[in-house]
Amino acid sequence: MNSEAIVKETRAYHCLECGVCTSSCPVARVRPSFSPRLLVEKALFGFGDEIVRDRDLWSCLVCGRCTSRCPSNVDYLNFIKEMRIEASKLGEKGLFSHDGILNTIMELQSLSLRQKRTSWITDDLEVADEGEWFYFVGCLPYFDLVFGEGGYCDVGLKPTERARNTVRILNKMGIKPVVSNDERCCGHDLLWNGDLEGFRRLAELNLKTIEKSGAKKVICLCPEGYVTLKRDYPSYLGEQDIEVVQLYQLLADKLKEGKLNFVENGSDNPVKVTFHDPCSLGRIAEIYEEPREILSGIPGIELVEMERNRADALCCGTSGWVNCSSCSKQIQTERLKEAEATGADILLVACPKCGIHLSCAKYNSDIKIEIKDITDLIVEKMA
Ligand code: SF4
Ligand code: SF4
Repeated sequence: MNSEAIVKETRAYHCLECGVCTSSCPVARVRPSFSPRLLVEKALFGFGDEIVRDRDLWSCLVCGRCTSRCPSNVDYLNFIKEMRIEASKLGEKGLFSHDGILNTIMELQSLSLRQKRTSWITDDLEVADEGEWFYFVGCLPYFDLVFGEGGYCDVGLKPTERARNTVRILNKMGIKPVVSNDERCCGHDLLWNGDLEGFRRLAELNLKTIEKSGAKKVICLCPEGYVTLKRDYPSYLGEQDIEVVQLYQLLADKLKEGKLNFVENGSDNPVKVTFHDPCSLGRIAEIYEEPREILSGIPGIELVEMERNRADALCCGTSGWVNCSSCSKQIQTERLKEAEATGADILLVACPKCGIHLSCAKYNSDIKIEIKDITDLIVEKMA
């Protein structure tokens, strides 16, 4: 798509030059030279060639704050995505964090390879090769290699514990999900980093794997995986005969049906928690209340909101494993301090990547608040 077509497709020609996008942008607040408004203006005035060579094209966190607030409904997120696809054709890329190891892992998964991605499944977990529900695990098994003990960038995390939690919770709901060794990365990061062909290859491989399992329902813990399978697979590969469900939607329903129960609290003192809305779960998928409904159902848990919550929530500071910078660290530190200011003991996260990014910022800092994935809490408290 050339820049004229991108302007048309994303309604950029409706831009009022109001600057709401720039004033809403967490990157622009830290780095005033970054201006989403200016990028849109450049495209409007026919300087698309400059945009695709502009390093700032890769500084956007695709957090969606600008898109959600734009009074003219300019689809800035898709504007960035399409511009990156064009830039990528010219060989332009973002600056990969962690020496590009995660990007390499994602690219490799889009090719013909043999994986060993299910060794995280422990004996207590019930999984199947075929069935009604497919649990889309995403890149969690690979994150362990990078961020786990002895990993390439060891920040003391165990990302695959989130996958085990998901299966434990599903088993408790009477669901024995399919978990496949042939699954690949969902393609979210390749798509948003401009690699459309890589994304397509991953999507095609995943759809074949899901079809082979006989599953008609796909459950995702990772909000980015959820949005990618639910919105982007149909948009790029046509409508699919599968229902894509986010774990917290399912659990909120089960709670209402009385099929998700929690143990009584043994203490009079509630544990104070605060909740970080991931951009993909919140602003993109508009799933705000379900995690809160689940938390309100757990005895002894008191939720205290951060000043910026739901559609106003601050991003966790980096996206797609590109351009993780001092700007990212400032945004992450600001978010952690906002969480501490609530007086909460625990900052709950609902996205494995948010957990990684915020934990990384906490590492070697004097920030004390405990960071915990909601699935950890659910598994601890499930009756
Ligand atoms: S918020 Fe929307 S209308 Fe205002 S400058 Fe940004 S893109 Fe243009
Ligand atoms: S998506 Fe987020 S980071 Fe990117 S320009 Fe908009 S507000 Fe800024």
